[in-house]
Amino acid sequence: MLRISTFRRGGVHPDDKKELSRGSAVETLPMPSKLVVPLSQHLGAPAKAVKAKGDTVVKGEKIGVASSFVSADVHSPCSGTISDVTTVRLANGASCEAVVITPDAVQPEMYNVRYDWKNESPSALLETIKDMGIVGMGGATFPVHVKLAVPEGKKAEYLVINAVECEPYLTSDYRSLMERTDETLEGIMILDRILSPEHIVIGIEANKMDAAQLLEEHIKSHGYPVEVQPLKMKYPQGDEKQLLKAVTGREVPSGKLPIDIGAVVCNAGTVYAVYEACVFHKPLIERIVTVSGEAVKNPKNILSPVGASAADLLAFAGGYNTDNVDKLISGGPMMGFAFADEQCPVTKGTSGILALKGADLEAGVCVSCGKCVAHCPMGLMPNRMFRNIKNGRYKEALDLGLLDCKECGCCAFICPAHLPLVQGFKLGKKMGRKK
Ligand code: SF4
Ligand code: SF4
Repeated sequence: MLRISTFRRGGVHPDDKKELSRGSAVETLPMPSKLVVPLSQHLGAPAKAVKAKGDTVVKGEKIGVASSFVSADVHSPCSGTISDVTTVRLANGASCEAVVITPDAVQPEMYNVRYDWKNESPSALLETIKDMGIVGMGGATFPVHVKLAVPEGKKAEYLVINAVECEPYLTSDYRSLMERTDETLEGIMILDRILSPEHIVIGIEANKMDAAQLLEEHIKSHGYPVEVQPLKMKYPQGDEKQLLKAVTGREVPSGKLPIDIGAVVCNAGTVYAVYEACVFHKPLIERIVTVSGEAVKNPKNILSPVGASAADLLAFAGGYNTDNVDKLISGGPMMGFAFADEQCPVTKGTSGILALKGADLEAGVCVSCGKCVAHCPMGLMPNRMFRNIKNGRYKEALDLGLLDCKECGCCAFICPAHLPLVQGFKLGKKMGRKK
């Protein structure tokens, strides 16, 4: 194992709260009586519905096809009958078309035949990943076949596996690494075949040293060319740019991508989906979701079909332990989305469903302490950007680098005036683009 490292500029240390859900093995959600499967679960253009109301579907069958290069196919998580094709609101507030499925009472046993991926060419493996609708499961939901298609003239020297999971409460990647260690490593070997990198490094934070140790042991026993790089706990280390700085020492310039500095980053949970896609030809129809927070009776990690509702998962975790739930969040508390409707469906990118106690603190006025500037990992001036946006000066905010803001929330976390900085930056980007 290598010396512990981290990124240098900015960052914060929120209480990780992972002890609530990290201890027990992943449990499988019984098939709900209804699945609402959105056709936009990825970055890029929504998929186009290829099934209609009244059609029957088999588990894993395509119900939506990618409508452009940056898009992804969507598959049915169950066998059943389509009861509707309608519009649904997602936890992030966006609306999209969704296929509503009534699952059959008995679901088929599938995906138990192994395919020999080692005899497949890199382009055939890429095609399989595309066909199985695999997208980044760490939050960004970028279609993986696009990310792995290295442009002419560029080379992935580094393949970095993102096992950081730095958002508080979330432990789905941790459980996946602990319970699917060999499968994850085989997934990494599939990526190795596609990209032929010079270095493969798993970046993992120091609050998961048991998983790091386990990975080391399995890597050694298989003789895989993979290094495990432990990282100091620091948020937002799971962001691609901070992770690459911590692992490779290289910095992704403003407006550029990891491949511009010779790197491809892939989240640990996504690597498992790549494994299932290439070894069993299984599409991305389910994922591990951390259901946690102080207002949840039995926080746990749940293997859920895509399209199950937040209410289904919360009920499986025992429901609430209080009448006063102050906030529901999809994802982590730093970058996730607050939502109100418990019928919101789980998507390929849903890493967590959190029910929290403790309302937001009232916003005061900026006291010019400069803490937000000191903690911004992108080297921005959040205070000045926010002031400009508040006063409608969107161009000035853009000139200060607003588009480089990752919306990581470090500035809002550290701000003693509790200013809604990230909401301001989201608005500023929207208004700036309009203008
Ligand atoms: S939300 Fe944006 S401005 Fe605030 S710390 Fe993160 S990158 Fe910097
Ligand atoms: S941390 Fe808050 S109060 Fe301090 S300078 Fe930044 S915006 Fe102002």
